[in-house]
Amino acid sequence: MSGAVRSRIRVEGIVQGVGFRPFVHALASEAGLSGFVGNDSVGVFIEAEGPPEAVARFVEDLRARAPTLAVVDRVASEPIAPLGGERFEIMPSTPGTEADALVSPDSATCADCLAELADPSDRRYGYAFVNCTNCGPRFTIVRRVPYDRDNTTMAGFVMCGACRREYEDPSDRRFHAQPTCCPDCGPSLRLVASDGRRLDGDPVAATAELLGQGSVVAIKGLGGFHLAADATQEGAVERLRSRKHREERPFAVMVRDLEAARRLAEVDDAEAALLTGPERPIVLVRRRARPDPALSVEVAPRTRELGLLLPYTPLHHLLAAGLDRPFVLTSGNVSDEPIAYLDDDAVERLAGIADAFLLHDRPIATRTDDSVLRVALGSTLPIRRSRGFTPRPLEVPIHFRRPVLAVGAELKSTFCLGKGTRALVSHHIGDLENYETFRSFSTGVTHLCDVFGVAPSVVAHDLHPDYLSTKYALDLEASAPEDNLELVGVQHHHAHIASCLAENGSVGPVLGVALDGAGFGPDGTIWGGELLVADLAGFERVGRLAPVPMPGGASAVRQPWRMAAAYADAALGAEAERLEVARRHGREWAEVVGLSRSRVSCQMTSSAGRLFDAVAALLGVRDVVTYEGQAAVELEQLADPLEAGRYPMGSTRGRLLELSGAELVAAVATDLAAGVEPPLVAARFHNGFAAAVAGAASELCAERRLRTVALSGGVFQNVRLLTALVARLRSSGLEVLTHSRVPPNDGGISLGQAAVAAARGAT
Ligand code: ZN
Ligand code: ZN
Ligand code: FE
Repeated sequence: MSGAVRSRIRVEGIVQGVGFRPFVHALASEAGLSGFVGNDSVGVFIEAEGPPEAVARFVEDLRARAPTLAVVDRVASEPIAPLGGERFEIMPSTPGTEADALVSPDSATCADCLAELADPSDRRYGYAFVNCTNCGPRFTIVRRVPYDRDNTTMAGFVMCGACRREYEDPSDRRFHAQPTCCPDCGPSLRLVASDGRRLDGDPVAATAELLGQGSVVAIKGLGGFHLAADATQEGAVERLRSRKHREERPFAVMVRDLEAARRLAEVDDAEAALLTGPERPIVLVRRRARPDPALSVEVAPRTRELGLLLPYTPLHHLLAAGLDRPFVLTSGNVSDEPIAYLDDDAVERLAGIADAFLLHDRPIATRTDDSVLRVALGSTLPIRRSRGFTPRPLEVPIHFRRPVLAVGAELKSTFCLGKGTRALVSHHIGDLENYETFRSFSTGVTHLCDVFGVAPSVVAHDLHPDYLSTKYALDLEASAPEDNLELVGVQHHHAHIASCLAENGSVGPVLGVALDGAGFGPDGTIWGGELLVADLAGFERVGRLAPVPMPGGASAVRQPWRMAAAYADAALGAEAERLEVARRHGREWAEVVGLSRSRVSCQMTSSAGRLFDAVAALLGVRDVVTYEGQAAVELEQLADPLEAGRYPMGSTRGRLLELSGAELVAAVATDLAAGVEPPLVAARFHNGFAAAVAGAASELCAERRLRTVALSGGVFQNVRLLTALVARLRSSGLEVLTHSRVPPNDGGISLGQAAVAAARGAT
């Protein structure tokens, strides 16, 4: 071909297992180019030859017209000598030395596959494992890279002739779809009673029938086991709750489609987009006063919200259609243990909870919980980032010169791998408080390091000496060959602010407002209501919530009424005894006040979470919690959405600016004594707190000549507070950074730690 040019092209990002090579093949054929495309451990490599304009357009289209599930991070092309040739070919995968190619997250069943699922003439009609290059399991089935069938948990299933033909045909939707299968060659379902007896009949129909009769069924899903029960039957949901032990957390509910979701809750456009998106998270939406059908009150007690999710596997679609009413779909675990994902283990651990087990024979490589999101400020607010998002990397505004492992904190644990300019935040591990979870954490680290070819030479960790994650980091260092591993300790709230900076592509400096439950303070107190002048490398504490004693330490976290005692005593002195909450606890109240005054067994804390706890107890919302943050969540739900009044919250200036939580508490007590309704009191508390924090932040920004405020910490899961604070800060002309990609809670800490380690030059 005269005047032809040839380019060597590299494409990086999520470009494997998403139909990228057939896409390139089609693009090149359409443009009449010759050459080839292939996968290696770094991504996709291409050589393309033809007229200069056609090759240039081809290179542009690689990004512009990429397949749905692809995420193209980089396209690099260089001219090389033309070779001639007629055809454009797809090369087989080459095993490489370094694994940089990114595995795609699991993705909800696509429209084409759904059509096949529902078509009686299709060979995959009603088949619970239908998938293609545009959808299906990915991260949860990958054992190692490159992403080829042999390296997934589908390795044990030998493709039949028909599947093999599709798999090898570049024009087919299933070309190189690694998990592709059909009823003849793929995984199959079986329904088993809790005593291990196999139940006859169609497993899906039988499961729907059991659920309809009020049974609890454990269902093996994509990233682990769920427990399901008919959400409209009081008895069924109650049974599930009591068998799961002490559980009070709201349960998520799966509905058949968006229309069914809208009959239960008010779903706006942003929420609808999240509910129906390929990630299919649980979305927290405002429930209707009269949901249709009516749900058991046990589904989500004491909240105005409902966690809804739509089917994301063919099995879910079949079940939802078979049952045709909302059903609870909650993690298959007992209380705080990690979600079960291995068949034998699940049957053993869940035997006392489930009446039956819907199992299948495709193994799960990595346990991955459902993600949970809210919509706030017109954007996504992640509460738990896991299935559907992991392991999609985040581009960060800093370069990891050496690979970093950041081990996170303790609650809502995640870890993070940093390499190049990418940070990969792991799936949600859970609360690192028991051996099971810790084992899940350490095997998760090993697995992800393998999959992404990262051998960390820097390990970032929290300063808390007792966190299992910190101990893990110290052990790694102790067992590493001499000087090969560098440890970087990062203060908890600095990590929170750094995570917010990193996901927003900012390096600071900013005024960081970190509001959460608890974090280790270098001064020996427990931090959690902090104003920090911070950049990625460091921070200076410039303000805080005035510290109060935590009577009984850890028991004050489990029993918010103890915080009410500490705050009420600070605010009102002996007057506090007349409060309703004091009367409820009688002698014990007096003892706790005594403890608080003597400061014996009392750590001091500036935690914002504890202030919310105190107010929740004062309002009779909750005296004792069964999960972290419960009192604050319920306090937010109680607050009257329309009330605009607010309580005063003064501040004092010494070396630090200090906000007086006691003043807010005094105002709460006064209104309660005057008989003001709790929803109004809760609203005025939120409004007053937001106004005071905004005022303090503006004042400090003016002094330090800062223009940007970053908001992080678990308290910012509270949309009412977040929205009020952001509005006030913006109206003072400040730029506000908030979370939309990783959670503001401790699930985002590992990203912040990694960014700090990179910025300190440790990497
Ligand atoms: Zn599909
Ligand atoms: Zn087949
Ligand atoms: Fe925290």
